[in-house]
Amino acid sequence: MKIIDEHLVTTDRVSFLSNDNIEVFVLRLDKIHPVISGNKWFKLKYYLKDAQRQNKSTIITFGGAYSNHIVATAAMCHACGFKSVGIIRGEEPPQYSHTLQAAISYGMKLIFISREQYKTKTIPNFLTEMNGYIIPEGGYGLPGVLGAASIPIQQSSYNIICCAVGTGTTMAGIIKTKAPDTHVLGFSVLKNNFSIESEIQKLLPNETKPIHINFDYHFGGYAKHTPKLFQYMNELYAQTGIPTDFVYTAKLFYGVHEQIKAKQFRTGSKILIIHSGGLQGNLSLRKGTLIY
Ligand SMILES: *Cc1c(COP(=O)(O)O)cnc(C)c1O
Repeated sequence: MKIIDEHLVTTDRVSFLSNDNIEVFVLRLDKIHPVISGNKWFKLKYYLKDAQRQNKSTIITFGGAYSNHIVATAAMCHACGFKSVGIIRGEEPPQYSHTLQAAISYGMKLIFISREQYKTKTIPNFLTEMNGYIIPEGGYGLPGVLGAASIPIQQSSYNIICCAVGTGTTMAGIIKTKAPDTHVLGFSVLKNNFSIESEIQKLLPNETKPIHINFDYHFGGYAKHTPKLFQYMNELYAQTGIPTDFVYTAKLFYGVHEQIKAKQFRTGSKILIIHSGGLQGNLSLRKGTLIY
């Protein structure tokens, strides 16, 4: 199942966020593939290996109409010879998002279910007969953590590793392999999602230290945005050439930048920002919003 070259990942110094006291680097997971981007490849790879081992031919997973997880799963299944089914939250829209169109182009069968039914995370009866392999929403679970733990980070080089947090699976994997003195700081992209700390703790039964999440940079909530966020994305790109997505990585960069300006990090800190990809999501924005 070698469809991604993990060596395409680079670590680059970001002068725009660095200053006399703090050095900032970015891990460009977004470079490995335009669709199977960033953390999704890492979170999904052991699920698919497991499915292969169990001789399953169909993968079933869950997500919203703009979900990076849905389209990444569709593309990986296509590349690995699995059939895929996406259970999509909400009624079927009259016009499909770019994300759903792409998922279909990779052969994914989409099934729309009401938000109420979606919440129960149950598989519709006709799907249980398919005997598919189920990947939880966002790849949340131990195989996802193990995959995220294989993200190529030069462990001992940083005091602080910062990542965007949705389900927290990626953060759990990073915590699992971090050096003892390294802090991992997550930036929640959901509003007031305070239960996330215990959800991450559940993925790390042997971890006793507290999980650190910042909840201040959600910009109104999941996939919500403001003109200020777009302005920042454009400025960051103009200054550094780093494209970010508006759902996850832009909020992460913005949050880290604000925390640096507010002198929240110790002098001499070396910070690594995980660019977890997700750039396909920007296709849902009006043309001209971003300069890239
Ligand atoms: C899905 C996604 C995340 C969230 O990862 P979790 O492991 O669910 O916390 C972060 N960044 C990007 C770009 C994503 O697509």
